[in-house]
Amino acid sequence: MNLENLLRDNIKALKPYSSARDEFSGEAEVFLDANENPFNAPYNRYPDPLQRTLKTKISELKKVAPEKIFLGNGSDEPIDLIFRAFCEPGKDNVVTIDPTYGMYQVAAGINNVEVRQVKLDDNYRLAASELLRAADQYTKAVFVCSPNNPTGNLLEKSEILKLVTGFHGIVVVDEAYIDFSPESSLLPELDQYPNLVILQTFSKAWGMAGIRLGMAFAHPAIVAVFNKIKYPYNINILTQQTAMELLEKSPEKNGWVKLILEERAKLAEELAKLPFTQKVYPSDANFLLVKMHDARGIYTYLTEQKIIVRDRSKVTLCEDCLRITIGSPEENAQLLEALLNLV
Ligand code: PMP
Repeated sequence: MNLENLLRDNIKALKPYSSARDEFSGEAEVFLDANENPFNAPYNRYPDPLQRTLKTKISELKKVAPEKIFLGNGSDEPIDLIFRAFCEPGKDNVVTIDPTYGMYQVAAGINNVEVRQVKLDDNYRLAASELLRAADQYTKAVFVCSPNNPTGNLLEKSEILKLVTGFHGIVVVDEAYIDFSPESSLLPELDQYPNLVILQTFSKAWGMAGIRLGMAFAHPAIVAVFNKIKYPYNINILTQQTAMELLEKSPEKNGWVKLILEERAKLAEELAKLPFTQKVYPSDANFLLVKMHDARGIYTYLTEQKIIVRDRSKVTLCEDCLRITIGSPEENAQLLEALLNLV
């Protein structure tokens, strides 16, 4: 991969905004450089644009050097940045699997970039050769998601690696749900693949969806591109501080994941017994995809019971499927009770 050839010309030529915090980052006592208000500390100060303290902590946690880490306002931010950095609107395209997480398509649409969707097989498996065949000289990125949303399954690692090695552009592997899966992350192999971008998030296993903090791990040259085009202060002070505190809760997070996995197994077993369940798909994530007779009717009934699941019945290969997030033991019991009342 030649990063210079992949980048849009305007991004290559761009002179990025240089903030006061970029120009001076040493020790000082009096800050009169950023037109801040001197009162109302600590919220009066702009946050560190490169989130150095937080990245040091994440670097220890993930065993990845800080210069290979990009932090975004959720992992949705690096998804959008990939389009803005690499895809010329109206000309370039990306390849994704179908079905998958909806934001790849939305971000492509916002950026006026064509998406070439390649259907998974009936068991939701990925065939790298088909994605490679869908790509042409204008394909700048390929997006896969493992464990995949909404199907819940891990994609085969060997197929993902065929993509990474066989494609000349950026390969994004979205690992938002990796903490719930028996397979380990591709992160330890990041250094071998200069075109690989791994997305992870604090929104799922870590229970921090509300503070909006996502991660992209990639070669430092790709991270430098993201840093060049992002909003200067994309991660606010509250998020940086709260994340520093919550990252101390690693044991608690591991406990949550364990409980969610136990609940997933129980819920899958109970849902499979219901007469209107056709199939509970195996899950490597914190949700279950369930094929039901009249999924829409069951969805509507559940909303009347004030229980909201996701109706995925209009999604490719997910006809009559509901996607059910694993809740607390009490929430899952409430769901089952409501469904049993239908029997
Ligand atoms: N990737 C996948 C596969 C997801 O399902 C989601 C959230 N539904 C995200 C990314 C978004 O994560 P974040 O909250 O970090 O933007």
